[in-house]
Amino acid sequence: MRSEAKVEKCVKELCLRCGICCDGTLFKDVELRPGDDTSALEHFGLKLSNRTPKKTSEGGSPRSRVQSSRFRQPCAALDGCVCRVYSERPAHCREFECGLLKAAVEGEIETAAALKLIRRTRKKSDAARALLDEFGDSGAKECVSVRFRRVQRRLESGEVSQEEGSRFSRLTETVHELNLLLGAFFYPGYRFKRNS
Ligand code: SF4
Ligand code: SF4
Repeated sequence: MRSEAKVEKCVKELCLRCGICCDGTLFKDVELRPGDDTSALEHFGLKLSNRTPKKTSEGGSPRSRVQSSRFRQPCAALDGCVCRVYSERPAHCREFECGLLKAAVEGEIETAAALKLIRRTRKKSDAARALLDEFGDSGAKECVSVRFRRVQRRLESGEVSQEEGSRFSRLTETVHELNLLLGAFFYPGYRFKRNS
């Protein structure tokens, strides 16, 4: 049975040891909505893009400028697995619950099993990032999928050494395994099955 107390407990037990929906593993960016307080977000270092121009004649409050704005992940407000703007976080972040968190709240998976999946996924994400670093990709502030596509395009447009070829096949395999984990347990809309 779902209750606010149960949600809070699961967030404490899982999210504070995860961060996958904020660190560029699951999403490439976060879209803001009208009502999100951009000044608080910018204060904590989030760089917003596609901002609607300020209406200078009316003074344009920050709240009126957020339509179509977004910020990139890994989120600048993430410190370890902790959101530094938690009380001011955007609506999207407030509302988001991954499949695993939902399953834990509904009592469909034990905390220990959920933590094991989180550890496994984080490890895979770290491995993908390490391989991307080995390619000299300097996108530490971008999500894994964007970095992967950039490396893929680069290799497809030029000659590839044997060493690069074998590293790229390890990278492809790692990213594929990561995507399987994300698709199976984390993407919104995922319906947890006890035998997964
Ligand atoms: S991916 Fe799920 S478990 Fe991890 S921090 Fe986000 S909501 Fe919490
Ligand atoms: S604002 Fe907070 S909850 Fe939202 S992506 Fe950044 S760290 Fe995560």
